[in-house]
Amino acid sequence: MMNSGALFGTFSRAPLAFERGEGCWLYTANGDGYLDFAGGIAVNSLGHCHPHLVAALTEQAGKLWHVSNLYNIPGQERLAERLVQNSFADRVFFTNSGAEALECAIKTARRYHFVNGHPERFRIITFEGAFHGRTLATIAAGGQKKYMEGFGPKVEGFDQVPFFDLDAVKAAIGPETAAILIEPLQGEGGIRELPQGGLAALRKLCDEHGLLLVLDEVQTGVGRTGKLFAYQWTDVEPDIVAIAKGIGGGFPMGACLSTENAAAGMTAGTHGTTFGGNPLAMAVGNAVLDVVLAEGFLEDVSRKGLLLKQGLAGIADDFPQVIEGIRGVGLMAGLKCGLPNTEVNKALRAQHLLAAPAGDNVIRLLPPLIADDEEIRTAVDRIRTAAASLAAAEAAA
Ligand SMILES: *Cc1c(COP(=O)(O)O)cnc(C)c1O
Repeated sequence: MMNSGALFGTFSRAPLAFERGEGCWLYTANGDGYLDFAGGIAVNSLGHCHPHLVAALTEQAGKLWHVSNLYNIPGQERLAERLVQNSFADRVFFTNSGAEALECAIKTARRYHFVNGHPERFRIITFEGAFHGRTLATIAAGGQKKYMEGFGPKVEGFDQVPFFDLDAVKAAIGPETAAILIEPLQGEGGIRELPQGGLAALRKLCDEHGLLLVLDEVQTGVGRTGKLFAYQWTDVEPDIVAIAKGIGGGFPMGACLSTENAAAGMTAGTHGTTFGGNPLAMAVGNAVLDVVLAEGFLEDVSRKGLLLKQGLAGIADDFPQVIEGIRGVGLMAGLKCGLPNTEVNKALRAQHLLAAPAGDNVIRLLPPLIADDEEIRTAVDRIRTAAASLAAAEAAA
């Protein structure tokens, strides 16, 4: 299977196409089944074609698709209220993607200082290895050269510091600093966790210097780590949080959550979107929350995360030349590879297990949150088989 020549060549895709999905499984047109532990890169939070999501989407599709934000959209108000009830936030803006949620977060942080008499405060401190999206502002925020090269001058106002170097953060704070932006657990960067007390240390710095604490929970949010939001593992309250991937369960949507105070500058006309928060997206987002917020669901994500981690740790013990270590929280796991992660990923695919490569030579496992114990054991078995075959090939070489 070759990519059609009619497409931009921006993706190097696996030679696979799927025709349908059910739960944690994807099927090719020939009926070959793959266990999907990439989950559309943390998007298919409830797996493929979850009956509750299919019902919500098809019911809405027969009623109303799109009206624009010129009118009230009851589904938006309902979803916003539920996000507010279950988080630090007082206000929500809906978008179509993670990068747009970050754009809104960045604009909200800058506008906050503007309306508080500090238009000079627009700079945002970010961390090496971060990923915040592919728009011009979010590639500047992420700061990775490979994503910025050839796209003209870097958007002004982002100061990268080495990953979780607190002294560097302190040194970077100046009279123009508006905010600190960080993923509570780096996704694309390789499932890199903050040190214990890390978020609290940033919160303290923000409070001392009048900065806003902005979290990118596009990948960690909506139950992925076993809490609705990863920051809820700490007692830190952020000012602004961007979410996307998991909230739509596969329907493209995102949101920027903010305190009332931080959103003070986002008044009528300052920001907008044509598609964001449309009735179809809101029907699905509300349906995702019905499941994720059900009694016991998040606790079960944590329990299954431990089951996965234990299985993976056993493989790392037995094949340290292939898997050097295990990272992650809940159902956001990383395998630090001893061989190139692309090779490990290929070997997993040969076992019909789908995973997602990340930075720092890591393979990510981001299974649907509805994965059951047997599916987790099957994944662990397949990873073990792949690791054994890679180790045998290494030994023979
Ligand atoms: C995926 C991701 C984004 C970008 O989301 P898009 O929907 O691709 O724009 C931003 N931040 C993080 C942490 C992500 O994982």
